[in-house]
Amino acid sequence: MANDVPSQKRYRGRFAPSPTGLLHLGSARTALVAWLRARQRDGDFVLRMEDLDTPRVAPGAADAILRDLRWLGLDWDEGPDVSGPHAPYVQSERRAQYSAALRTLERTGYVYPCTCSRKEIAAIASAPHGPEDDGPRYPGTCRSVVSHPDRTPSFRFRMPEPAPAFIDAVFGPTEGSSAGDFIVMRADGFYAYQLAVVVDDLAMRITEVVRGEDLRASTSRQIAIAHALGASAPMYMHVPLVLGPDGERLSKRHASTAIAELRDQGQSAEQIVGRLAATLGLVDDTTRVSPRQLVEGFDLSKIPHTATRLSPV
Ligand code: GLU
Ligand code: ZN
Repeated sequence: MANDVPSQKRYRGRFAPSPTGLLHLGSARTALVAWLRARQRDGDFVLRMEDLDTPRVAPGAADAILRDLRWLGLDWDEGPDVSGPHAPYVQSERRAQYSAALRTLERTGYVYPCTCSRKEIAAIASAPHGPEDDGPRYPGTCRSVVSHPDRTPSFRFRMPEPAPAFIDAVFGPTEGSSAGDFIVMRADGFYAYQLAVVVDDLAMRITEVVRGEDLRASTSRQIAIAHALGASAPMYMHVPLVLGPDGERLSKRHASTAIAELRDQGQSAEQIVGRLAATLGLVDDTTRVSPRQLVEGFDLSKIPHTATRLSPV
């Protein structure tokens, strides 16, 4: 297994939202679990703003997320507005770190330039597809020599086979999955989430990553990058997603799932936290509770392993 042997290291958790919209019940629930896990272990809780995907960044969203987290009673020890030894905590200000990691990985042979177009890859790789919706499996065309030296390359990480397995704190032993070698820097200079998240989790000394189940399929790739950088990966815990009352994944289509909207409608933070805690099996549905009051009774084994459907309010 690829995970660290549990050690005496101080627990360090994090919440790493992308400022693409308002904090909604689904992301707030993940934040609550990550916060409870850190507080129950007397650890540190780091907040990191993941704003590298600039076309999707919504103006004002980062500040709104911070405001809503605070309003719910979820505080952090390091992050935006709270200085700490691993600053900056905003990814768009950390490009020098990603560039350094990329150079190391290229020098050690874990990363190579790739000049294939999407079309070319799709034409060669019919099936099978990767674990996520990130397109067909890369056939390895540029592994030894780039296919089109005249083009500006992207950079790909050489994914080991078999992909690293890991132990998920909620789901237990989890087999590795991958879609072959994947892009860590696009030809237009964008650093990929997969690279940035690993560089940051290592730099910020995160011991356990708590996040939504939608990222479970990325975990093997992130462990592989950590190992290639000569580090051991953090532990991982994935929280099953929240669905709207209609059974669809929460999105902007669902009215009244944004925390700010619920507040404007007059709901209290304790009411919302109570509702989230109920979906985690921690309280019954009508309790009003603060995050702090949940710390003592927080029990991982109560978290349902399937997606939770919100009841209409
Ligand atoms: N920024 C990612 C998101 O909001 C989460 C990354 C992570 O927790 O690893 O979906
Ligand atoms: Zn290629």
